[in-house]
Amino acid sequence: MNTLVDYPSVVERYEPTLGLEVHVELSTNTKMFCGCPTTFGAEPNTQVCPTCLGLPGSLPVVNRTAVESAIRIGLALNCSIAPWGRFARKNYFYPDMPKNFQTSQYDEPICVDGYMDVTLDDGTVVRVGIERAHMEEDTGKSLHVGGATGRIHGADYSLLDYNRAGVPLIEIVTKMIPDTGGRAPEVARAYVTQLRDLISSLGVSDVRMDQGSMRCDVNLSLSPAGSGVLGTRTETKNVNSLRSVERAVRYEMSRQAGVLDAGGEIVQETRHFEEQSGTTRAGRRKETSEDYRYFPEPDLVPIAPSAEWVEELRGTLPEKPWERRARIQQAWGLSDEELRDLVNAGALDLIEATVAAGAPAGEARSWWVAYLAQQANSRSVELAELPITPAQVARVIALVAAGDLNNKLARQVVDGVLAGEGEPDAVVESRGLKVVSDDGALIAAVDEALAAQPDVADKIRSGKVQAAGAIVGAVMKATKGQADAKRVRELIIERCG
Ligand SMILES: [Zn+2]
Repeated sequence: MNTLVDYPSVVERYEPTLGLEVHVELSTNTKMFCGCPTTFGAEPNTQVCPTCLGLPGSLPVVNRTAVESAIRIGLALNCSIAPWGRFARKNYFYPDMPKNFQTSQYDEPICVDGYMDVTLDDGTVVRVGIERAHMEEDTGKSLHVGGATGRIHGADYSLLDYNRAGVPLIEIVTKMIPDTGGRAPEVARAYVTQLRDLISSLGVSDVRMDQGSMRCDVNLSLSPAGSGVLGTRTETKNVNSLRSVERAVRYEMSRQAGVLDAGGEIVQETRHFEEQSGTTRAGRRKETSEDYRYFPEPDLVPIAPSAEWVEELRGTLPEKPWERRARIQQAWGLSDEELRDLVNAGALDLIEATVAAGAPAGEARSWWVAYLAQQANSRSVELAELPITPAQVARVIALVAAGDLNNKLARQVVDGVLAGEGEPDAVVESRGLKVVSDDGALIAAVDEALAAQPDVADKIRSGKVQAAGAIVGAVMKATKGQADAKRVRELIIERCG
């Protein structure tokens, strides 16, 4: 049994070298080399065809949208785009891979030599080099039944679902990241977080780590501090949350230091991260690339993106999410914490779109983080899934600003929109929610309320103006909250001389 070394002691005596490989499933409508749909969660083996099942005689065709997405990801990561490249066959046998080879890119990746500047919580910027980003296809899924842990070991039988086989993947590989010292776990997490946000902003993947559409492998080695000798690395596979990325790096640092302290050697192997315990366990010995007998895929023509096409795609890149956040934070005068809350609530895009539709930022923010957040919460859906658009919210805000609605009525209008009753104006009309500020209607209600509470009326007449509140309340009640409260107060004072 291996002893773990205290983290501060690891950092004192060893220098970690980090490398991260992130697989991103693209959200194309169809698979990488065939026309099968890619809908997540479909019945097992309903989204398959001869090509993605690797049946004899079937021929692959490259998905143009996937290539486009790969190029856009590469450009966003400051990579050079290769003017020419072939796919390769990576040969290995595994039951969830029906062809017994994976069509991938080997020595001719489409994107090379980029970087991303990663900002840590305290503002420190670490430049992470990108070695390559290449295209490949996903495997199917195995389900091991009967074992205690869902692992193949101890299972009674296994089921295979090939729906995912052939779904387009981009694998993004960093260069070795040295000199992060004790901050390696934090750098790893910040890198994956930023990468996720960047890819999300491109709209090419839903980057859900919990659903496996983004998966991270952590490479880590230790060298004795100051030695300059690179240690043997391990590769921890399929780390499935941002928090786990940080924990996996930290654990491997402590574990490897324990092995080295005891005079042992680090084995080059893949390891599996255990979510429950936060530890890693040994997997298979790491294959070398020779083991895979890569060779150029003979059934696919090379990919040769023209310079014009690449430039056209560069023109489609959106503002970087972190630059956009900084701009919004400044424009809306938000603290770091307020900004983080908006981002975490998934409200930033919605608020920005509401502002773009003409609403003041403060009110747009208040609607989305208060009333609408409550509505989303009570329906157990994400804010963005509520059946109301930013333009509709902006319209409600405009109606309030124009004095046509007060806040209470505005909430009823929003309720109507959420209930599918149509646009805000239609809901105002059909539910009769407009503020009543027409003096004729209000005077009658004021007189009635004064007559019903003669003692209060006397107080007001004797100069106790603050007593008018009770009458305002009565009028609001009588008009079902639709009276213009400010005008009602004026009328009460007028009527009482
Ligand atoms: Zn297919």
